[in-house]
Amino acid sequence: MLQAFDVIRPRSLADALDAIADGNATLLAGGTDLLVRIKKRLLKPQLVVDLSALSELTEIEDEREQIVIGSLVTHGQIVESTLANRYLPVLVQGCATVGSPQIRNTGTLGGNIANASPAADSLPPLTVLDARVIIQSLAGKRELSLDAFITSPGKTQLRSGELITGIAVQKMQDNERCLYRKLGQRKALAISVASVAVRMAFDPAIRTSSASGIAFGAVVPVIRRVPELERMLSQGPLDLQAIKEISERAGEFCAPISDLRASAEYRRNMCSSLLYEVLYDLTS
Ligand SMILES: Cc1cc2nc3c(=O)[nH]c(=O)nc-3n(C[C@H](O)[C@H](O)[C@H](O)COP(=O)(O)OP(=O)(O)OC[C@H]3O[C@@H](n4cnc5c(N)ncnc54)[C@H](O)[C@@H]3O)c2cc1C
Repeated sequence: MLQAFDVIRPRSLADALDAIADGNATLLAGGTDLLVRIKKRLLKPQLVVDLSALSELTEIEDEREQIVIGSLVTHGQIVESTLANRYLPVLVQGCATVGSPQIRNTGTLGGNIANASPAADSLPPLTVLDARVIIQSLAGKRELSLDAFITSPGKTQLRSGELITGIAVQKMQDNERCLYRKLGQRKALAISVASVAVRMAFDPAIRTSSASGIAFGAVVPVIRRVPELERMLSQGPLDLQAIKEISERAGEFCAPISDLRASAEYRRNMCSSLLYEVLYDLTS
């Protein structure tokens, strides 16, 4: 039998911050990760603070050069959002691959980030977008780059008494192209075996890329941009030979593990294949 725990559901952010101030609460958003962990008895909370009534964290807002996404925004909302489709299409592509419609309509962006899984589908897109995590506690607000926020698999810089209120992302520019591609064991409800997000400013007339971002998922302990490969994208025309050479080096920047889903060697090879496919499609 599961150990009983108390649940409270604050109606405002101020009340939620009060409720978590002593650091003894476990936060619940959509529950698609947390409830599984509780059910598997990997976690035995005493007090769960359910954030789902905090309507102030459910908006996607246009703030001039940036879009701010409330932490309770679901993957489904991002997929449907006009603002996200216009300015952050790579994030839309990532969120569209999460689980199933039920999971996408329940699981939140804040939960995906706080969970800090190397296989999380929002993280490679948010990484190439240089996203920042907005954190709040009774002491005030602070902002960290996503890179600084996630420190190791499942571990973040979130302190007790804090919660994520939002994610701030600079808008992509009109000359930028992007793609997220994920390989799972099947087409739906599959945790990523390997994934890649690429964002680049591309001039089709001379087939040349200037600013760019590349990040792999599920093949590194913590998802980070890969500056070595990004530099190669800007070193000359992106013809088929260049795309082949760049993608063949992908494996050097992965540190995959072997598990039930795939061997490390397969994952490494798939990173090269995914990067080849993505660069080919982005430059066609
Ligand atoms: C069947 C199934 C399939 C799935 N498929 C995928 C998939 O394909 N891709 C993928 O990326 N994920 C997948 N997931 C994982 C999960 O759905 C996502 O990680 C989801 O975004 C988690 O969000 P949530 O709101 O449900 O988080 P919750 O389960 O509520 O919380 C997750 C963690 O984040 C913390 N947390 C939540 N909100 C906040 C906040 N605002 N501030 C601070 N901490 C917070 C919680 O305390 C908890 O530790 C799947 C899960 C299931 C059950």
